[in-house]
Amino acid sequence: MTLRLYNTLTRQVEPFVPLVAGRVTLYTCGPTVYNYAHIGNFRTFLFEDLLRRWLEASGYDVFHVMNLTDVDDKTIKGAAEAGQPLRLYVQRYIDAFHEDRRYLRIRDASVYPRATDYIPAMIALVERLLDKGVAYRGEDGSVYFAIARFPDYGRLSQLDRRELRAGASERVSTDEYAKEDVRDFALWKAARPEDEAVGAAWDAPFGRGRPGWHLECSAMALELIRARWGVEVLDIHAGGVDLIFPHHEDEIAQSCAYTGQELFARYWVHGEFLNIRGEKMSKRFGNITTARDLREDGVDAGAIRLLMCQVHYRQRLDLTDEALASAREGSRRLGEFQNRMLASRAETESPAFAEAAARLELELAEALDDDLNAPRGVAALFAFASAGNAALDQGLRPGPRAVAAWERAEGVLGVTSAVEVLTVGPAVEFGGQDQAELTDTPPNGSEVAARAWAVRWAVRRKDAKAARDFAEADRIRARLKEAGWEVRDGRDGSMEVRRL
Ligand SMILES: [Zn+2]
Repeated sequence: MTLRLYNTLTRQVEPFVPLVAGRVTLYTCGPTVYNYAHIGNFRTFLFEDLLRRWLEASGYDVFHVMNLTDVDDKTIKGAAEAGQPLRLYVQRYIDAFHEDRRYLRIRDASVYPRATDYIPAMIALVERLLDKGVAYRGEDGSVYFAIARFPDYGRLSQLDRRELRAGASERVSTDEYAKEDVRDFALWKAARPEDEAVGAAWDAPFGRGRPGWHLECSAMALELIRARWGVEVLDIHAGGVDLIFPHHEDEIAQSCAYTGQELFARYWVHGEFLNIRGEKMSKRFGNITTARDLREDGVDAGAIRLLMCQVHYRQRLDLTDEALASAREGSRRLGEFQNRMLASRAETESPAFAEAAARLELELAEALDDDLNAPRGVAALFAFASAGNAALDQGLRPGPRAVAAWERAEGVLGVTSAVEVLTVGPAVEFGGQDQAELTDTPPNGSEVAARAWAVRWAVRRKDAKAARDFAEADRIRARLKEAGWEVRDGRDGSMEVRRL
C-alpha cells in the first residue's frame, strides 16, 4: 500500500513518491498574525496535521515548515492602530496561534519561520530575479515580477490569460499603474511612511521597502529545505483552496524562475472551506469565530477534530450546532471506551480483540492511503470501539496488540475526548459555610466557573442527603442534569460529577 494524494497541479489522484526515499519536505502556509486565527483557518491546519501525522505513521522522516506572516498590509495596519512596533504587535498573536494549535493537538512543525527573520534571503531572491530579467523596478520604486516572462504562469490554477487578466483587473488600484502589466505582482514594496512608522521597512540594493506576501513563502521554503537537505524542490506544498490563485501561482513563478527547476513542489494539496451554518450557530459565532472560543466553551479538541475528520478535506464542511453536538457526543463515547479498554488491559489478548485490532490497522491504512480519507478512518475507529465494548461486556480482555492498534489509530486521528470526571472526596462538606449566592442556572462564558457551579451544587446535594432531605437532593440532581451534568454517588461517600 502506498499513499495516494490528489495533486492540484495535475488534477489527479497520484501515488505519492517523494524526491528522496524515506523523507518528505512539507511546506504549509501559516497564519497572518494580525488577529486570532478563525476556525476556518484551523480546518486547513487540521487537515495538514492529519497529512503530517499519516506521513510520519507511514515511516517518513518529515521536515515540516509552517511560516508565520508577520509583515503584510494587515499586520502593519494593526500595529499602526495599536501604536506599537510591528514585532511587538504580532507577538501576542503568534503566542495565541501556538496556544490554539496546542489546544487542537496540532503537532509542532519542524520550524515556524517568521518572515521578518528572513529578509536577507528575500532580498537575495529578488536580486537574482532582477539579474535574470524576470523582475523589474516599477516607477513607484517597488519591484514586480513580469508574468509575461514566465511562460508557465497559470499552470497550477489552470486559469487562461483572459481570466487572469479579469481577476487581476478587479484588484487594480491607481498606484498599480506603475506596473508593466496589470497581472504582475509585487515582490518588494517600496517603503511608505506608515511602514517606517512601525518598523516594517528594510534597506535593499534595489530600494528600501518590505517583502510582498508571496515572496515570503518562496524565500523561506527554499532557504530552509536547502539548509536541511540540500534540495530546491518541495515534496508537498499544502494550503487552503483560496491560496491556489494568486498566492501559490505566484510562489511557483518566483521560485522556479529563481532555481531554474521545473517544479517548486511535486505535490500541491489543497483543503476546502469551512462554512458556519444555522441561525443559532451564526448567533453564537457572530463575533466569536476562533478556536479559543470553542476552548472557553469547554469543547474538547477531540470533538473538533472528529467534526473535521467526518468530512473529506476536499469537500466543504458545514459547522453547525447540531454537527458540533453530535461530534462531542461521538468523541466522548470514544473517550469512555478508551478509559474502559485501558482499565481492563491484560497480558494475554483475547482473540476477539486481536481480530478487531487487525481490522482496525488494515482499514485505517486503506482509508488514509486513499487521499487521506479521514471519514473512513474514523468509521474504522468507531467500529473498533463498538466491537471492543461488546467484547468487554462479555468479560473478554484486550492485550498489547489491541491497545497498540488503538493508540496508533488515535495517534493519527486524535479524535477522542478526554472524559473528565470531577471527583468530590468524601470529606468535602461545606455545610453551613457555603452561603454564597448560587444561581439556579450555570454562569455563562467561563468553563471554570461552570465547573465550580456544578461542584457547589453537588456538595449542597450531599448536604441535603446527609440531612435526609431527599426531595431537595433529587431537585438538585435534576437541576444539574438540565445544565448538562451528571452526579453519581460513590460507595465511600465521594461523588463524581461529569459532563453529560
Ligand atoms: Zn504561502
